[in-house]
Amino acid sequence: SRPLISPEKHTEDDADNSLRPQRLGDFIGQQQARANLSIFIEAAKSRGEALDHVLFAGPPGLGKTTLAQIMARELGVNFRATSGPVIAKAGDLAALLTNLEERDVLFIDEIHRLNPAVEEVLYPAMEDFQLDLIIGEGPAARSVRIDLAKFTLIGATTRAGLLTTPLRDRFGIPIRLNFYEIEELDLIVTRGARVLGVQMSADGAREIARRARGTPRIAGRLLRRVRDFAHVAGAESITRSVADKALRMLEVDDAGLDALDRRYISCIALNYGGGPVGIDTVAAALSEPRDALEDIVEPYLLQQGFIQRTPRGRLLTAHAFRHIGLAVPQSVGG
Ligand code: ADP
Repeated sequence: SRPLISPEKHTEDDADNSLRPQRLGDFIGQQQARANLSIFIEAAKSRGEALDHVLFAGPPGLGKTTLAQIMARELGVNFRATSGPVIAKAGDLAALLTNLEERDVLFIDEIHRLNPAVEEVLYPAMEDFQLDLIIGEGPAARSVRIDLAKFTLIGATTRAGLLTTPLRDRFGIPIRLNFYEIEELDLIVTRGARVLGVQMSADGAREIARRARGTPRIAGRLLRRVRDFAHVAGAESITRSVADKALRMLEVDDAGLDALDRRYISCIALNYGGGPVGIDTVAAALSEPRDALEDIVEPYLLQQGFIQRTPRGRLLTAHAFRHIGLAVPQSVGG
């Protein structure tokens, strides 16, 4: 468990929606995605049509939900949100769909976790804006077709690879979100401090940005924790040294890795000589769900060059051994 800096949603994040950018122009980073989206939004608006369905893929906390909300606002339509695991039955989805107005945005988070019966309902809804419902049972059962408003589905997933092909193919606009650059996180932290009314030096903001694991949600959470620390310590402003002390207490190291990241690396280094080792084996050794490791831990470690994925499993790099203070084995090189 990693309550402080896991990029997954916490209730406190909702409490502090003040940090959420409201317009496309306030959204920092993901330049390619923003450029594309603004063109599609303009085009849809000028034709007075619903925007094509959009799929956002990428690790948690990178702004998928935020962008979906922004798009509804830019399009001037209603925003309805739900998530894959919450829609239990086909009827639940039918109820959502029949309540949509023309051009509304329906946001489905974790869309890779829809159950197959629900997904079946989604295909004709996305393609032809029609709903085929079976009413009654047995010989008396009959099928009815309902026309839906022309809506835009925005799906979000941490793992595009887990989507079925027919579902993935029905999104006209697939968009991949990447980890943020330090400069971008720096702007996000600086803006966040302004919104929260916190005094912060430029090097203080930089330090939080550097250690935010490429993720705006973590940057926001670290900012709030560092602010609390500064308050208790009686510091007037968040300097680099104040930020560093606070982040160390939170077990966020110099590379932005947290306790679970380091446990993951140590486990492969010490128990499996650096790998390759299968993800199920690592998950069992750490007593962590495999999904959490694949969704949350591994993407950043891969991006930062701590691990590699090979056909035979996960492999630590020399960088990873050095990071946790171990000698690099001959087999790994370096
Ligand atoms: P996801 O849906 O990808 O898990 P969210 O959209 O919920 O991520 O974003 C997580 C948090 O990070 C939100 O509180 C949001 O305010 C903040 N955030 C995300 N992207 C940005 C950004 N580009 N600029 C500023 N804040 C951002």
